[in-house]
Amino acid sequence: MDRRQTFLMTSTPEAPPPTHRLRVDEEALAANWRHLDAMSGSASAGAAVKADCYGLGVDACVPVLQEAGAGAFFVAHWSEVAAVLDHVEPGRVAVLHGPMSDADVRFALETRVPPVINSLSQARRWNEAGGGTCHLMLDTGINRLGVTPSELSDPAIEALEVDIFMSHLACADEDSAMNKRQMDAFRAASGQVRAERFSLSNSAGIALGADYHFDMTRPGLALYGGVPRAEFAGKIRQVAHLEAAIIQVRTLQAGESVGYNAQFTAETPMRIGTVSLGYADGFLRACGPGNHLLYGEVILPLLGKVSMDMVVVDLSQAPETGEGDWLEVPFDLPNAAQQSSVSQYELLTVIGPRLRNC
Ligand SMILES: *Cc1c(COP(=O)(O)O)cnc(C)c1O
Repeated sequence: MDRRQTFLMTSTPEAPPPTHRLRVDEEALAANWRHLDAMSGSASAGAAVKADCYGLGVDACVPVLQEAGAGAFFVAHWSEVAAVLDHVEPGRVAVLHGPMSDADVRFALETRVPPVINSLSQARRWNEAGGGTCHLMLDTGINRLGVTPSELSDPAIEALEVDIFMSHLACADEDSAMNKRQMDAFRAASGQVRAERFSLSNSAGIALGADYHFDMTRPGLALYGGVPRAEFAGKIRQVAHLEAAIIQVRTLQAGESVGYNAQFTAETPMRIGTVSLGYADGFLRACGPGNHLLYGEVILPLLGKVSMDMVVVDLSQAPETGEGDWLEVPFDLPNAAQQSSVSQYELLTVIGPRLRNC
């Protein structure tokens, strides 16, 4: 039942300017895709755009990736399809979780977005509906989704019209013997499957060399500025810039404290700023202690706990700052991950929708 009511007879006016924002550097995003595509050699790079482009927003990122040259876009859920279809033709979108129900199959057929088939039951469900072109995931050791090598000879799998035959690496960000084992298993299975294209590597896998590239690579993290392996350092550019304004300036007296649980206490009088950014925006509590925000080049240490909508910084080193001045979160992902012990993937994907919508 739709419980919405109309309280405004006219449409809501446009919201006033926000006090925090996520800026997506489109040039850096396009350059990262081109770099990953070039590193993929004769293979072409697709783009993982699941989780709203890892937190950066489908509307901001997908058109840029498409213009840069990406030809295949991977989401996890059927609910993520509509946003991508605003920018991309259906045959270029793939849904990694595949059809879990008849409703999923109907949605796939109506939208003409092919699923990734991950199991015999998904294959049967797809075949029974006369599904047509789909993708196929082989499990080569990560043990999440995908058919096993021995299931490839099942009639339900042999009946599929496979566009992309793929597998996924478990340890590509490490120099693990498992990488080659998975690659060998995928190569062996490739001889058994009729498919238009073959695809194994995520971002990190691209750096493992030509043996891992096949026809298509599927970078996600590195598109958005993540550096999963040393080979990418200095080549992948920061894409996400988090900025927030000072919304109040205060002066603490010696002995006064800041924030929940009074975790910071001033030893001398000091000028502090309350900033419009909190854990609801994805600036997690783990990002607080020992870290800082930047006013230009000036380092402003964070004081006390991160609140839901606010953090407090020490303004001692920036006496010229005032209400309305913008600060930047240091969001170079490998550094930020090291500082906070939160993974690069998580730092991106927890960016709050509140920031994306401004
Ligand atoms: C998320 C995902 C990717 C992208 O992985 P990154 O490590 O972010 O580059 C590629 N393939 C599959 C199947 C995925 O689920």
